[in-house]
Amino acid sequence: MRRITAAVLAQAPGRLELQELVLSDPDPDEVLVRIAYAGLCHSDLHEIDGTFDTTPPIVLGHEAAGVVVEVGSNVRDLAVGDRVVTCLSVFCGRCRACVRGLPSSCDRRTELATGRPDRLTTPAGRPVRPTAGIGAFAEMAVVHRNALVAIPPAMPLPTASILGCAVTTGIGAVVRRARVEPGSSVVVIGAGGVGLAAIQGARLAGARLIIAVDLVPEKLAASVELGATHAFDGRDPGVVAAVREVTGGGADHVIEAVGVASAVERAMAMLAPGGVATVIGMVPSDPPIRLDGNDLFFLEKTLQGSFMGSNQFVRDIPAYVGLQLQGRLQLDRLVSEVIPFEAINDGFGSLAGGRSRRVVVEIQSGEGGR
Ligand SMILES: [Zn+2]
Ligand SMILES: [Zn+2]
Repeated sequence: MRRITAAVLAQAPGRLELQELVLSDPDPDEVLVRIAYAGLCHSDLHEIDGTFDTTPPIVLGHEAAGVVVEVGSNVRDLAVGDRVVTCLSVFCGRCRACVRGLPSSCDRRTELATGRPDRLTTPAGRPVRPTAGIGAFAEMAVVHRNALVAIPPAMPLPTASILGCAVTTGIGAVVRRARVEPGSSVVVIGAGGVGLAAIQGARLAGARLIIAVDLVPEKLAASVELGATHAFDGRDPGVVAAVREVTGGGADHVIEAVGVASAVERAMAMLAPGGVATVIGMVPSDPPIRLDGNDLFFLEKTLQGSFMGSNQFVRDIPAYVGLQLQGRLQLDRLVSEVIPFEAINDGFGSLAGGRSRRVVVEIQSGEGGR
């Protein structure tokens, strides 16, 4: 057992507070990781601001990069000193979803992520939940071995910290779920960290037209720098017509990376007959998404979702690192700010303001740092 400093959400909605907690030793299937950098995700923000229900006390943070400190007795593929990335889609490798090749939908994900109640506690022994079985806004975390993958030392850790969620979700939605073909037209609604990853995924897949839609001029400018061929202001009431015109009658694919029902409805309206809309934003159940039956029946449009980019992260993350190191992805450009751990609430303020791409918190860069 060891004492660590972690950012705790004691009540929701609320603010994070740096507190001392007690972290257990790793079980046979677990790994103790020193967290170097962690990305701030909108899903964390929505638990802090009360948009989504949560059960405090909780340590948030699910995308991180760090260094292995100790491994459980069953862990063979990771060793002390390895640089690793966390991914919240922990998988068992043996259930129906896993053997079908969909580990991101593993039947045992919740069970594996929940772990033991004593994994993380207050000094008085009260359990504190590490989100997704990770709890990355902390100096160290005990993580199931199947929520980790090793990365080469050449990959800078600040950029690596966003591989486990933003990058995997954005690129995975395009290449794994939507399976965008060369020459396609792809619209990405929402050009934050995840949307900019989707734009890079569309470029990698050989899309001919890549149309970014966002409300913030800086994000539209970044979209063009990272591969978008067109950038449209989402406030323009004529944006659907503009997309339909540029694409010659509608897009082959729309990726919805905002997470609101109205954007999903717009995505469907932007599609060509036979087109596919893929939702990667966390869309609340209320208000409901309104669908036009004609889009489905006469026009054969498809509406599908993708959780975490339908990833096989053990393969995908090393592949994305390889492409980054070759210069074929610009994942470093997704990180707009690296802030100190003490400023984590300001980082969420910046994310809530809608101007930042991905904000990364530096927890303990140490010798394993940049
Ligand atoms: Zn996330
Ligand atoms: Zn499974």
